[in-house]
Amino acid sequence: MAKRRARVEGTETDVRIIRKKSRISGWGVYASEPINKNKRIIQYTGEKVSSAEADRRETKYQKKGQIWCFTLNRAWYRDGNVGGSTARFINHSCNGNCYSEVIDHDVWIRASKNIPKGAELTYDYNTEGEAGMRCRCHPTCTNKI
Ligand SMILES: [Zn+2]
Repeated sequence: MAKRRARVEGTETDVRIIRKKSRISGWGVYASEPINKNKRIIQYTGEKVSSAEADRRETKYQKKGQIWCFTLNRAWYRDGNVGGSTARFINHSCNGNCYSEVIDHDVWIRASKNIPKGAELTYDYNTEGEAGMRCRCHPTCTNKI
């Protein structure tokens, strides 16, 4: 396996972010510069799939403890694991510093507060515990995602 290391990138809205190992889960995404509240940070891209296809894929992904399919509406999802941007590595938190916004079938991750350089970016996946996985946003969180 190739050595995996932190990677800095500029997003389509020119925000500098870093992907690196997270204390929450797997890879995480961090601010490489201060980000202003409400700034569009990055688009959550990935293959657009039907709800039935997303169900099939999520069943597979969840066995590995992963969630990749973002709900656009009742009929359509975006699978960040297929052709997705670095946004797919942003972890869930029950009290995150970002939020998601769906415009038509595009998903944007935006800052919900002023974010200092070095902070891990997180947002609420709003999965309502569907995946049955314990939330690790902080050590005493008892929520399921
Ligand atoms: Zn939590």
